[in-house]
Amino acid sequence: MFEHLKEQPKDKILALMQTYRDDPRDTKIDLGVGVYKNPQGVTPIMRAVKEAERRWWDDETTKAYTGLAGDPAFADAMIALVLGDAVPRDQVAAVATPGGTGAVRQAFELVKMANPQVRVFVSDPTWPNHLSILKHLGMETVAYRYFDESSGGVDFEGMIEDLGQVRAGDVVLLHGCCHNPTGANLNMVQFRAVIDLMNDKGATPMIDIAYQGFGDGLEADAAATRAVAAGCPETLIAASCSKNFGIYRERTGLLMAVAQDKGMHAVTQGNLAYLNRQNYSFPPDHGARLVSIVLGNDDLRADWQTELEEVRTGMLALREQLASELQRLSGSDRFGFVAQHRGMFSRLGIAPELVDRLRDEHAIYMVGDSRINIAGLNKETVPVLARAIIDVGA
Ligand code: PMP
Repeated sequence: MFEHLKEQPKDKILALMQTYRDDPRDTKIDLGVGVYKNPQGVTPIMRAVKEAERRWWDDETTKAYTGLAGDPAFADAMIALVLGDAVPRDQVAAVATPGGTGAVRQAFELVKMANPQVRVFVSDPTWPNHLSILKHLGMETVAYRYFDESSGGVDFEGMIEDLGQVRAGDVVLLHGCCHNPTGANLNMVQFRAVIDLMNDKGATPMIDIAYQGFGDGLEADAAATRAVAAGCPETLIAASCSKNFGIYRERTGLLMAVAQDKGMHAVTQGNLAYLNRQNYSFPPDHGARLVSIVLGNDDLRADWQTELEEVRTGMLALREQLASELQRLSGSDRFGFVAQHRGMFSRLGIAPELVDRLRDEHAIYMVGDSRINIAGLNKETVPVLARAIIDVGA
């Protein structure tokens, strides 16, 4: 039987990580994988998370199953974090999922169950896993223009023109903040225009929010998601706790389905629980528990916010340093977008041959599309990267 299996394409970023590990040069710089690293190159356990873990060690009395939707306290805490008071709690159906990826996967499945003919509109480019999951599920995708290579910003005119093709019943996938892989984001005026367009067309928005707190702050980063949830009749939201709580391997996420028609709540909640049951039954609890402990305790929450803010402002400082270093060396503003981008990533917009040369000649590793992980840098390596970019003639 196994002889009928075809070899699957390798994940490019994971393959790049392996090449990086095998590189003997001690000056090597990893700007590939999407994990936050502090200036020492470590992905730390956040202080509040560690403390929540200590408290939970004492308090946990059973390892019996939770509910199919996960612990309700986790859903409540995350709904409040992501949606604030944008929509009443009883308009939100939600289930805990294994990471943001699990939430994305379940959201697509729910969409397919509701409308087998659905087309999912995705930004060009988007997080590659969106495309591969949609392909795996046999769902039709339509790319809409998003990144403007020449300015490093959003091609908003192109985006609106392409979204003009949306039909009633289609889904439009949007990144809530900190677009992966480009780092370029819509402003709120543009988001409102997209909301109007989706409502005119009768399309359903789906928001993937995996970096809340990494861009302009916890509240600002949620503003677009809140505006969509409040402004559209129905919204799907896949939220990840991997980055902003630093609990990548705990696999912690939440899928929310918001419906302004309260009559939809029970059936949607039932379908989300059904999907969990079919795919893995009960969702993982440990990471979700840590999140609800942190968010539910004033002291831990305050400390978490302080540390998250340090992470965010540290990345912003690196962005500014890189943009000004590139400005100095190139004598132009053409890399100014690096300081405008938000989140962990920026797409530099340099040719694949130059990305290869940066790796071969300078031991600098970035994804083939020239996406860099800003958190892979520190004050000392920013000038090294800037010089190398100019050296290869980018
Ligand atoms: N969406 C986007 C856009 C992402 O970048 C990520 C993380 N790479 C995720 C979702 C989900 O991450 P996880 O499954 O680790 O929570």
